Amino acid sequence: MNCKFCLMDETVGNLKIDSQGECKYCKAHKEMEKEYQLGDNSFDRLKEIASKIKKEGKHKKYDCICGVSGGRDSSYALYVTKKILGLRPLAVHFDNGFNSEISVSNIHSICSKMNIDLETKVADWETFKNVTRSFFFASVPDVDITTDIGIFKTMYEIAHREKINYVFNGHSFRTEGLDPLEWTYMDGLYIKSIFRKYGKGNLKKFDNFTIKDLIKYKFLRNIKTVLPLNFIEYDNDKVISTLKENFDWNYYGSHHHESTFTKFCISYYLPKKFNIDRRKTDLSAMIRSKKIKIEKARELISKKVKIDDEENLLDFVLNKLDISKKEFDEILKKENKNFKNFFTYYDILKYFKFIIHLMTKIKLLPKILYLKYFS
Ligand SMILES: [Zn+2]
Repeated sequence: MNCKFCLMDETVGNLKIDSQGECKYCKAHKEMEKEYQLGDNSFDRLKEIASKIKKEGKHKKYDCICGVSGGRDSSYALYVTKKILGLRPLAVHFDNGFNSEISVSNIHSICSKMNIDLETKVADWETFKNVTRSFFFASVPDVDITTDIGIFKTMYEIAHREKINYVFNGHSFRTEGLDPLEWTYMDGLYIKSIFRKYGKGNLKKFDNFTIKDLIKYKFLRNIKTVLPLNFIEYDNDKVISTLKENFDWNYYGSHHHESTFTKFCISYYLPKKFNIDRRKTDLSAMIRSKKIKIEKARELISKKVKIDDEENLLDFVLNKLDISKKEFDEILKKENKNFKNFFTYYDILKYFKFIIHLMTKIKLLPKILYLKYFS
């Protein structure tokens, strides 16, 4: 079954399509559009939020935290935060050991040109490697959530330490869309369950985000998430040219390819083992926000992602993760699994769906998160 309005198809497990031929991801997009309607006052709404943040941050060194990866969206979100909204962000970067040279130079040049302080948290490599390896051996597709959860934890940890109440990130539902849960599921207990079964050593030095952290940072500290790019018109080419012209910023070829590990996952591992093409979520989001025609998107998706250095990339990643070619071949042949095969918070959180919905109403959690997990 394919959705009539986007690229989501039978490769998405459990894809529900209504009688009009519309999938739940298109529906979720409409929900988001209602909340973040672009028009005369959408930027005013963002400015209003910024002026509230400025007031609160008056006697502090920083107004907010901005997560940066050197990629397009987080770089642009940092630019919007500092130059357009006039806030004083502290840029935070989580280094998982797979940064490309381009991403490092992008981060440094954008921060220094705008006089923004940068704090980099370097993940404990041995622990990070062991956790990421365990995801490969568990035969699940979400091998890169160890990075995502590390970024998440680091931003909240630093916000807490610096007494900052706002965490900004560069996600935009118009350019990125929602990854199906079966493709990318993120939760601290999921990491623990997989590690217990397939990992070695312990998780003490891993930047995990557990339910305790959620209670600490969200309920007790009331740290809010702001997604500034949801409020503004986003034109891919314009964004890239703004970054290039102002910050000697370099593009790395494709969305998410700023990290060699993510590049490996998206363009090699996921398509090969799971028949997952994550370009579908990005392109579908762009179709829904009328940035690309569905025919053009279909044409793009029919072409395999080209990696000019495929063998090198594979050797580099496997070497770094201490996975032998033989082990990797076995992993490729193993039966595919996902978060549903492991113990996670999902079964517990389902009972608190209503509370989570309320948290999005008071803007403590982004609505997109609720839609991803419970729509
Ligand atoms: Zn759809």
